[in-house]
Amino acid sequence: MPNRGEALCKQLWKTALPLLAERVGPVTYDGFLRNVKALSYDGETFVLEVPNQFAKAWLEEHHSGVIGAALAELLQRDEPVRLDLRVSDRQPEPAPPQLLEATPPAAETAGGNRMLNPKYTFEQFVVADCNRFAHAAAVQVAKSPGKSYNPLFIHSKVGLGKTHLMQAIGHMVCKLYPSARVVYISAEDFVNELITSIRDNRTEAFRRKYRTVDVWLVDDIQFIAAIEGPVSEEAFFHTFNTLYQNDKQVVIASDCPPRHLQLINERLRSRLEMGIVADLRHPDVETRIAILEKKVQTEEVSIPREILELIAKEVESNIRVLEGALLNVCAYASLNNVELTPELVKEIIAPYKGSSDQHRVTLEEIVDYVSKQMACSKEDILGPKRSKEIVWPRQVAMYLSRELTDNSLAEIGRFFGNRDHTTVMHAYEKVSNLVATDEKTLWLVNDMKSALQGS
Ligand code: ADP
Ligand code: MG
Repeated sequence: MPNRGEALCKQLWKTALPLLAERVGPVTYDGFLRNVKALSYDGETFVLEVPNQFAKAWLEEHHSGVIGAALAELLQRDEPVRLDLRVSDRQPEPAPPQLLEATPPAAETAGGNRMLNPKYTFEQFVVADCNRFAHAAAVQVAKSPGKSYNPLFIHSKVGLGKTHLMQAIGHMVCKLYPSARVVYISAEDFVNELITSIRDNRTEAFRRKYRTVDVWLVDDIQFIAAIEGPVSEEAFFHTFNTLYQNDKQVVIASDCPPRHLQLINERLRSRLEMGIVADLRHPDVETRIAILEKKVQTEEVSIPREILELIAKEVESNIRVLEGALLNVCAYASLNNVELTPELVKEIIAPYKGSSDQHRVTLEEIVDYVSKQMACSKEDILGPKRSKEIVWPRQVAMYLSRELTDNSLAEIGRFFGNRDHTTVMHAYEKVSNLVATDEKTLWLVNDMKSALQGS
């Protein structure tokens, strides 16, 4: 029979819910708290009814502190309220069958993987210095998953090709190894799936599913800690370890390098750094033109080369924005049936202008850094000596100057002890060629670029 205490505690719970929604995150809230009923409060202990054993364990283990504190706040008590979670003995309402299967199987293998965007293949990926290293690592991983670089950790700012590259690995593995199980999933979906499985009492199925994965592609890992804190991180770590120990390939994409990830578990961080870490940088104008050319080829539209050049020059931001600008130009041209003049194009792409937010490196910084890394004094790098031990660091420094700054060849030459611009060009070509053919140089240069750009 309802009494005053019961009404109070129901009211209290109703008031607490919006507070809790903010504090526990949407997944726990929708998955568990919504279905909790307030039964009683005797001034000491708050009794809540939860639908099943899993919900009880989950809430007790991970959220009892927050719930107790929120109730105490509403009751204006200093001490957190004690909780007593009881499992409902009513039969749970059976979920409609389509809901139980709401999470689609994450991968299809032979004949294409429907979790993968068909456009994100290696063929559609333009390789240039800004992504050569990551691309090479990705191809290697796709050719021999689990055997070469494990895990592969790809990071970059938004819109520079992480998802594209990752899915390209998926496509290639499916093609080369039709029986391999490839799973591409965002960290957020992974956590949602985990929590749904706990709620619906299907954790065993969840674990089984991930035990049989051959290639696990996890996108946007930076959200793993943000979504549900330690819980999701733990689940991720566990799955990662299981796969890793069985020589299954793990590829991870993130908007920052592992050392900047907000992780609670340091062991996870060192695991992520253990394999290979590759970054994607902003493409230079030549690469941007090449990307636009590739896009118009695939989309089968015809846009004059000088218009593509104009777009590439004006839109310096990330590749997604660049594509957006191109699409708009195409749309405008076909809709209005007008000729694309440079003036018109400039107008159309005006909203897409704006430069990349990458840290601009100075020539001094480069020489300083190379001098330290390659154990060669600054005076020698900038001076006249031509011995081999000095020429190589100098050439690397010139290459980096060309890559990372807006200085012309002549300006770089002047800075490096008044050398001719052809010397700089020669150095640039030599290092570029090595980057394309020699793995050691590729690694060296890649690490230096990342460090200099402070990513
Ligand atoms: P991220 O995951 O890093 O935010 P995406 O992989 O979604 O970036 O890439 C954004 C867009 O840019 C996609 O449409 C992708 O196809 C395109 N893109 C990125 N890098 C390249 C490249 N090297 N060649 C061709 N297209 C690219
Ligand atoms: Mg992405």
